[in-house]
Amino acid sequence: MERKLKNSNGTDIAIIGGGPSSAFAAIEALKRKKEVEIFEEHSKIGIPIQCAGLISHSGFKRLKIKVPKNCIQNKVRGSIIYSPNNKKVVIKRKSTQALVIDRSLLDKFLIRNAENLDGKIHIKARVLELIKGKNNNVLGIKVKKDGKIIEKYSKIIIDGEGVQAKFIRQVGLPKVKRSYIIPAVQYEMSNVDIIKDFVEMFFGRRISPGFFAYIIPTSEETARVAAATNYGRPIDYLKYFIKRHPIASKKLQRGKIDKISAGSILIGGPIKKTYSNQFLGIGDAVGHVKPTTGGGVVLGGLCAKIAGEVASEAIDKNDTSENFLVKYDKLWRDKFGREFQYQKILRLLINNVPDKILDKGFEAISKNNIPELVEEIGDMDIQSNILKKVLFSPRIFKLLISFIYALIFP
Ligand SMILES: Cc1cc2nc3c(=O)[nH]c(=O)nc-3n(C[C@H](O)[C@H](O)[C@H](O)COP(=O)(O)OP(=O)(O)OC[C@H]3O[C@@H](n4cnc5c(N)ncnc54)[C@H](O)[C@@H]3O)c2cc1C
Repeated sequence: MERKLKNSNGTDIAIIGGGPSSAFAAIEALKRKKEVEIFEEHSKIGIPIQCAGLISHSGFKRLKIKVPKNCIQNKVRGSIIYSPNNKKVVIKRKSTQALVIDRSLLDKFLIRNAENLDGKIHIKARVLELIKGKNNNVLGIKVKKDGKIIEKYSKIIIDGEGVQAKFIRQVGLPKVKRSYIIPAVQYEMSNVDIIKDFVEMFFGRRISPGFFAYIIPTSEETARVAAATNYGRPIDYLKYFIKRHPIASKKLQRGKIDKISAGSILIGGPIKKTYSNQFLGIGDAVGHVKPTTGGGVVLGGLCAKIAGEVASEAIDKNDTSENFLVKYDKLWRDKFGREFQYQKILRLLINNVPDKILDKGFEAISKNNIPELVEEIGDMDIQSNILKKVLFSPRIFKLLISFIYALIFP
């Protein structure tokens, strides 16, 4: 077999990137007694970070993670969602719905779990390229570490490199469409006048066309505040949001900006194929992100766990060809494919309707007791059940039909 490990320099699974998806994949493979090495280009795990840190309580349960207390900055029990004309829909529950997390600490905690299972973590180790053999098979990676270029051979590569998806393209998998990558700018702010246990989301073309602006409280008077858009510079939208938005400005304009970060939010759902010979793509690299909210830790993590399981099985069966690895693609699509699809439909709908229709949609949502329905059966990660119910409720359905009619006969 072409795939032989060069003794001193081989491993079962080499993982590109030290983000949460990589950690989840690694942990599953390590539990199955596989040799795993993770390569992270930065000098510290979890730094820099581009994330609001909002992760559902139920998501952590699904991931089977008990979050250490030091990672938890705040707990929220609901959200307030503002329409373009500032009508608000409030969704509230009595108990905690989501945790606001220090993502740097969470990432460190996850990687430490992999280390405790004998995973080998290389920091300041930038993967430069894939080593390919005959038939274009991936045999390993070329890594720059401590100024030296090393070659690391492995039976399988798991690619958790995040949104840039350079290696995804190198193995010939489809790339995420540009229009589905939404640049975002986020401020960490102090001295803001916010509601500690509610997340606030603001829609509208003037605020954050193509996504939404948000305020995520990290304490009584600190918050993560962001705008994301691919219609111009998100920083300009964020400044406008803080200074001029009739509701948000009252909460934020006297605030102090303590930190700025920028990143890209994915809204298009997964790419069409996430595996190749000896290669599996996970997390942001393959679009395992909720198109409605841009959250990628939970669904990305759940799919990455499947990658760790399937990679281990492939090694046990001595078949790392794509004929076997297709199993990963099938398994995650069976579990979450419909979820990504429903959420993408809703995201595209919101992005394409004029603000006036969105305002009407918000009104219809309030009149149809949909917030109460969401309070009762809503789920931050698995949203397809509630989406079906909402989209097919009589008034919303009528609104949708009139919107489609207006699009066809403007
Ligand atoms: C503004 C913003 C807010 C967000 N808020 C939330 C939120 O509230 N909740 C939520 O669930 N999700 C949120 N997300 C999405 C979330 O951050 C991502 O989905 C998540 O980080 C994906 O994890 P990952 O492991 O796939 O990739 P990443 O976390 O991006 O990790 C990839 C890692 O690979 C490393 N890497 C890349 N290339 C190489 C290379 N060549 N060699 C070595 N290492 C490499 C990178 O340095 C990085 O550490 C947000 C995203 C943005 C931009």
